[in-house]
Amino acid sequence: MIVRDVLKGKSATVWSVDPGMTVYAALELMAAKDIGAVVVVDDEGVVGIFSERDYARQVILKGKSSRHTQVCDVMTADVVFVQPDDSIEHCMQLMTSKRFRHLPVQEDGSLIGLLSIGDAVKAVISEKEHIIHELESYITSAG
Ligand code: AMP
Repeated sequence: MIVRDVLKGKSATVWSVDPGMTVYAALELMAAKDIGAVVVVDDEGVVGIFSERDYARQVILKGKSSRHTQVCDVMTADVVFVQPDDSIEHCMQLMTSKRFRHLPVQEDGSLIGLLSIGDAVKAVISEKEHIIHELESYITSAG
């Protein structure tokens, strides 16, 4: 299973924020859309990613105010992307080794989706269920 298969089952919208937006406004968007991270985009393209963990560690624990802090000051600028033809297994390995839960998907330089660890886990479970079902059918028919 590859990233493109999983994106087919998701809304095509990738929620993003401007680097100059306040952390508070970004959190409002994340709450409204029920998501844990947003991609940070300027005129040139993706410049970062901001997740709930950044809020916890870079804002709350550092005593900053979410209404007076810009997203660009607390985001991760070094974004790791995946491609639509990458396998879900590769994505899970990346998320596990780098300890993050979101992977923006890029194709020919454009942002075409965002894969979360939840999407990946769901896809792997459904693939395994399918294999079990096939094996059960095979065993039953063989008997
Ligand atoms: P998360 O587990 O996704 O909430 O993110 C944990 C940390 O990794 C935060 O500092 C995020 O900004 C960062 N992060 C999340 N996804 C990515 C990514 N694809 N590339 C680089 N950093 C990321």
